[in-house]
Amino acid sequence: MIDTQPDISLSRYAEVLRKGSVIAFPTETVYGLGADAWNADAVARIFELKGRPPDNPLIVHVNSIDMAGTLAAEISEDARRLMERFWPGPLALILPKRPEVLDIVTAGLPTVAIRMPDHPIPLRLIEEAGPIAAPSANTSGRPSPTRTEHVRQDFGSEVPIIEGGSCQYGLESTVLDLSIRPYTILRPGHITQSELEQELRQPVRLISTHSVKLTGMSGDAPRSPGMKYTHYAPDARVRWMQPDELPWPDPTTHGTLYLMHRIRPDDTLHTERRPGKSRQSENRQIIQYRENYSEMGRDLYDRFRMADLKRFSEIAIEPFSDSDEAVEALLNRIRKAIGD
Ligand code: AMP
Ligand code: MG
Repeated sequence: MIDTQPDISLSRYAEVLRKGSVIAFPTETVYGLGADAWNADAVARIFELKGRPPDNPLIVHVNSIDMAGTLAAEISEDARRLMERFWPGPLALILPKRPEVLDIVTAGLPTVAIRMPDHPIPLRLIEEAGPIAAPSANTSGRPSPTRTEHVRQDFGSEVPIIEGGSCQYGLESTVLDLSIRPYTILRPGHITQSELEQELRQPVRLISTHSVKLTGMSGDAPRSPGMKYTHYAPDARVRWMQPDELPWPDPTTHGTLYLMHRIRPDDTLHTERRPGKSRQSENRQIIQYRENYSEMGRDLYDRFRMADLKRFSEIAIEPFSDSDEAVEALLNRIRKAIGD
């Protein structure tokens, strides 16, 4: 686990937030770019810094169910049940908002997304500065940051960054819309559909990557405004790698990052034993996850960023089965990067 900064310096960051500035901080999912959720100018600065379209709302971070009650018009029994079971944790809940929640935070929607992060740094900041509106701390169109150096790549010294090491999950939170029936997962994350169904004792719908795209393209109002925006598309082409391309594909490619995960007992590629370790040559890099999908999830955005920094032309990913719902979030992010 990550050490918190000394209290004194966290208090100083909380003070910066209270004064209306924006700061980047770690969470258990990805780094966030946060501002005082009650300060419209401060929140506007997030949109400006990120180049985020104004109709894509932010998640408000809280440190208690009571604080969620200052934002949501009502905490329903189902909402409370989920908060008690999964908070603090990677689950954002969409609820009807109180009238005083700022339009800039919700992009004018009548609902607000709320979550309680499972990380001591934001929890401490919220304790001192109140609810923090925060999207991921990347410029729009870049992968979410999972380490401080990613935040620095996108924002340089424009925003103060609280150091917190690598994020525990590396993929964004599950977003569950409780304002419609059936309850609908707008973005898959670490907390899965069946975990939610089990807790709620009712079916929960999962919007597939495919139907999200159709929704966005059909002219219907997408449930989650974020859905209609193309997510990160690296300069490198991301594609599934067919098994017959193994072990060494086309040597004429300008640079390929291979993300592989199956365990092949006789495979000469896998000299490294630890997951996520790589073998490099000048224009190709092979990362072997050995069926450790949580490691791959933690690593994905870092690898995407690395491929772009090295100006690789391709990111080839070995296909894997979606039979285990634990890989849903990972598959969703890969499909988005592919543009599938
Ligand atoms: P980010 O914090 O960058 O991961 O983005 C937050 C995600 O939550 C985006 O996909 C938003 O569109 C979504 N979101 C935030 N608030 C709402 C809301 N009130 N209704 C639907 N989706 C929301
Ligand atoms: Mg984001």
